[in-house]
Amino acid sequence: MQDVERLIARDPGGRGVAALLVPGDLDRAAGAVTAANRVLIITGFGVGPHGVAETDGPPGALFLGRALARLGKQVIFATHRLCEPVMAAGVASVGLSAPLEVLDRAQSPAPLLERHQVDLVISIELPGRAADGQYYNMRGIPITERTAPLDELLLVAKARAIPTIGVGDGGNEAGMGKVVEQVRQAVRGGERIASVVSADYLISAGTSNWGAYGLVATLNPALLPEPEEEVQLLTALVVAGALDGVKLEAAATVDGLEQEEYLQILRDLKGR
Ligand code: CA
Repeated sequence: MQDVERLIARDPGGRGVAALLVPGDLDRAAGAVTAANRVLIITGFGVGPHGVAETDGPPGALFLGRALARLGKQVIFATHRLCEPVMAAGVASVGLSAPLEVLDRAQSPAPLLERHQVDLVISIELPGRAADGQYYNMRGIPITERTAPLDELLLVAKARAIPTIGVGDGGNEAGMGKVVEQVRQAVRGGERIASVVSADYLISAGTSNWGAYGLVATLNPALLPEPEEEVQLLTALVVAGALDGVKLEAAATVDGLEQEEYLQILRDLKGR
């Protein structure tokens, strides 16, 4: 297994990430990024009673987007309505001028692909529908009423031969359909929550942000954010309403992890 794949698969939450790895997919995903020009990055997992964005997903999406912009790619972000304030604050915080597409529940996201002439779709910590058509959180609670079917973009992209990358950490995210049987066996509640939406390349990591950083590190570690930038961004996201998705608190932390443990991955990926 590659160094970066091993680093990002650290599993502090004990969620069974190791079983969801597809060895080699990280390198193949980086190859797809290198070949692309117009990249759509989708994120936004609604948590809590109001379905606001959690702090896992947006930082990975935003710093990956910044890295791709620095590589000369056109970047387009998409999220659903309830995550809009958080993503809008995040785009501003990292200093990007990329468009942010916002979708409602009843709206088909497919026209986005034409509008932006997208040639690569990347989903990061995005709810992916389960076999019964519902969306579930990691606790097995249905969240269909407070998400938009943005995972449809992976299905439409596949039908149009546009490559797709899925990044996740729990088995219920878009892209995890690639390892749906492993999710059913290795993840608590996997039978119920496993997403059936697949991606060409799957990046499984201890947190989804780490998965995105693993992709950045594979492209060029110099494009990774500094830990201080990450803290600054997390703070801006929380001010805009984001919650730690595990603690369900307005805290500048991710998946309930200690801040230092969470940030260490950036130092490890840079120091390789
Ligand atoms: Ca997560």
